[in-house]
Amino acid sequence: MARRKKIYEGKAKILYEGPEPGTIVQYFKDDATAFNAEKKDVIDGKGVLNNRLSEFFMTGLNQIGVPTHFIRRLNMREQLVRNCEIVPLEIIVRNYAAGTMSKRLGIAEGTQLPRPIVEYCYKDDALGDPLVTEEHIAAFGWASQQDMDDILSLALRVNDFMSGMMLAVGIRLVDFKIEIGRVFEGDFQRLIVADEISPDSCRLWDIETGQKLDKDVFRRDLGSLTDAYSEVARRLGVLPKSNVAKPTLIN
Ligand code: C5P
Repeated sequence: MARRKKIYEGKAKILYEGPEPGTIVQYFKDDATAFNAEKKDVIDGKGVLNNRLSEFFMTGLNQIGVPTHFIRRLNMREQLVRNCEIVPLEIIVRNYAAGTMSKRLGIAEGTQLPRPIVEYCYKDDALGDPLVTEEHIAAFGWASQQDMDDILSLALRVNDFMSGMMLAVGIRLVDFKIEIGRVFEGDFQRLIVADEISPDSCRLWDIETGQKLDKDVFRRDLGSLTDAYSEVARRLGVLPKSNVAKPTLIN
């Protein structure tokens, strides 16, 4: 069989040319990185869990009319997605203070915010994805005003959906990051949710105990990352019970 053409390899995923024009195969690696890749490890099974969890969230978003790049899952580690041009921004939505916001503004982690706060970072690893304002985004042409209106609306709809899904299983959605892609349909462009939505890109705390069930477990050495992600998957009913403790690993 001919080897697939690799388009891009990132910290947690590899993108391959898809089987049909306009598609991409997104492969979830087991690599975990934090602090702009200063901390690295390989966590057996993380890619399998994130593939399933991202499928679950993106499918739900598609069903409620929030467009995403997700087409279908192909196997344990791969999904077929729409090829899109990624807007060079990380869109962060926060419901509770944590992480860099707590550090930057001196607000205790876990403080409920008066309303969801949306932040934008310029996607550039070499610069450490710096926080930017809409002024920078407009001035440097990363997105138009119409794009920004659409991005804000998508981000808040994802927040409502994800907060509700999590609340139903006893988990608080503290914050998350999404990426947005442009697809072209004839003369029109549309913005869709792209990349992944998984515990790698969200902060998820147990409502009762405050236990962290997200990548902070790795960032802060709080225990087993796959146990935390498996717990999220188990509560959401995403993995069959037999697969929960030890996801089958297929490379
Ligand atoms: O680090 P910070 O507090 O700014 O992160 C906010 C949220 O965005 C967290 O859920 C984190 O996991 C996510 N994030 C991400 N990728 C980045 C930066 C942040 O998924 N490059």
